[in-house]
Amino acid sequence: MQKLKGIPASPGVVMGKVFFLDKEEFEIKKRRIREDMVSKNISRFQEALAKTEEEIKEIRTQVAKRLGEEEAYIFDAHLLILKDSYLIKKVTQGVKEKLINVEYAFFQVMETLRETFGSMEDSYLKGRAADIKDVGRRVLRNLLGKERETLATLEEEVIVVAHDLSPSDTVSMHKEKVIGFATDMGSKTSHTAIMARALEIPAVVGLKNITQKTQAIDTLIVDGSHGLVIINPDKETLKRYKKDKESFEIFEHELVKLRDLPAQTLDGHRVILAANIEVPDEVKYVKEHGGEGIGLYRTEFLHLGRSDLPSVDEQFEAYKEVARELAPHPVIIRTLDLGGDKFLSYLNLAPEMNPFLGLRAIRLCLADIPLFKDQLRAILKASTYGNLKIMYPMISGAEEVKKANQILEEVEEEFKKKGIPFNKDLEVGAMIEIPSAALTCESIAKEVDFFSIGTNDLIQYALAVDRVNENIAYLYQPLHPAVLSLLKRIIDGAHKAGIWVGICGEMAGEPLFAPLLLGLGLDEFSMSPIVIPEVKKVIRSLTLKEAKELSRKALKLSTAQEIEALLKEMVGKIMPEVTT
Ligand code: PEP
Ligand code: MG
Repeated sequence: MQKLKGIPASPGVVMGKVFFLDKEEFEIKKRRIREDMVSKNISRFQEALAKTEEEIKEIRTQVAKRLGEEEAYIFDAHLLILKDSYLIKKVTQGVKEKLINVEYAFFQVMETLRETFGSMEDSYLKGRAADIKDVGRRVLRNLLGKERETLATLEEEVIVVAHDLSPSDTVSMHKEKVIGFATDMGSKTSHTAIMARALEIPAVVGLKNITQKTQAIDTLIVDGSHGLVIINPDKETLKRYKKDKESFEIFEHELVKLRDLPAQTLDGHRVILAANIEVPDEVKYVKEHGGEGIGLYRTEFLHLGRSDLPSVDEQFEAYKEVARELAPHPVIIRTLDLGGDKFLSYLNLAPEMNPFLGLRAIRLCLADIPLFKDQLRAILKASTYGNLKIMYPMISGAEEVKKANQILEEVEEEFKKKGIPFNKDLEVGAMIEIPSAALTCESIAKEVDFFSIGTNDLIQYALAVDRVNENIAYLYQPLHPAVLSLLKRIIDGAHKAGIWVGICGEMAGEPLFAPLLLGLGLDEFSMSPIVIPEVKKVIRSLTLKEAKELSRKALKLSTAQEIEALLKEMVGKIMPEVTT
């Protein structure tokens, strides 16, 4: 038996036989061709492109039918790759000028493209390498006259294990046969992970080397809720997971019923459960899971993966869509949080030694006022279409908020002068995610209408632990007493100043932490849509009095382990599924 830890991409537990998807690697041999074979090679290339185009269009139609237009758009990108004039020119040149076989010419060009994208820092662009590989494999299969490898014709239930899965692999999976998957690569925001959640197939990604470890797998357990994979489990583990699986299914079924119920404690204390989104497409998940609006809209995702800045109108359209869809619920638009691990090549910023401590988020916006003003214009323009609020990220003290508000006022003046309508009572908030902001929150509170605590960053800055460095991940402790004490300080500070306070870091979506966060006094929790029902269930299972008692006890403990044990003891009683 062997346990591997990866990234929980889609919740649920499954166990079963394994199907290796990536076994098929085409062997492409370089061959010299005679001049009279050039035109035959080129026409074979054109035929393969045409056949591939048909295949992709067919998948696109299926996906649009099964999952909706939003999920199908990725195949438009695949079609664009296929029609790329650079690609076609390079392959044709290779065949004509170097007199090499078309398979090899094509393979070489695709590999270069894939490597270029794969080595990009921007995680969105990096992710496109998988799309290039996907399209490349399809064309090669057609060039080589091979049958299309498919997950649609599987005869029995399997768990798919692959180095990486493309969106089209994922979508051709039939839920009745592919009961789960596990991959070496991947992140929570990859298209594959998004589709796994949409199809509700339990999945673990980012396992690094599962394809190397699984030579002799009889049975595999995929625990998508905890990001765990167990190879050849012993009888006892298998029995335990079978039980877990049953309880998870009953539990999920029960959770659906909670969708329209309020997030209210047994003694009548009501909080708001909102969602974090990156792109407007995610709004449907928010609705499905009963999210009461958006607590964090990471707007910088609109700027990633492209070669120029989005126009004011483009930004406006995106904000308007989300505002309209969710009205009357609030939508908190976070102004650009670029920098850190989210770079734009077209902004031409100097490389930094410590990007997380560098020209990031509000600092960048205050250094590039035209960029900032354009976003504020788009937000103001969209503000009459729903219940929008603005939130500034990476605030380190009151001065930055004052500066940002000053710029907002300038844009408002501009709108007034031009007679453009906007919501004059637009609420403005600050993210509290830097310890200096936590420690001076009273003065920041005077400048804003609300706070939202960004624990992802607050933890990294308070504990001096890089949030993306796997080697020190064990030190990244959300329950560290220092983090709890900062949370208490921020929440009390906000309430004393008469403003509300929410949380939008990943901590908000941990059902285990919910009683503690509730007891500390948070008014709003914002998280990935899929976890909303679970957190709601915990909140609805206890009293505010119990939660307060728990947080008082937790604040007196001296280690994260002790605090975790305390939380497990309490949550274990109301929702054992969460603590196992
Ligand atoms: C945070 O830091 O907790 C947060 C929600 O923002 P991001 O993860 O985008 O930095
Ligand atoms: Mg942050």
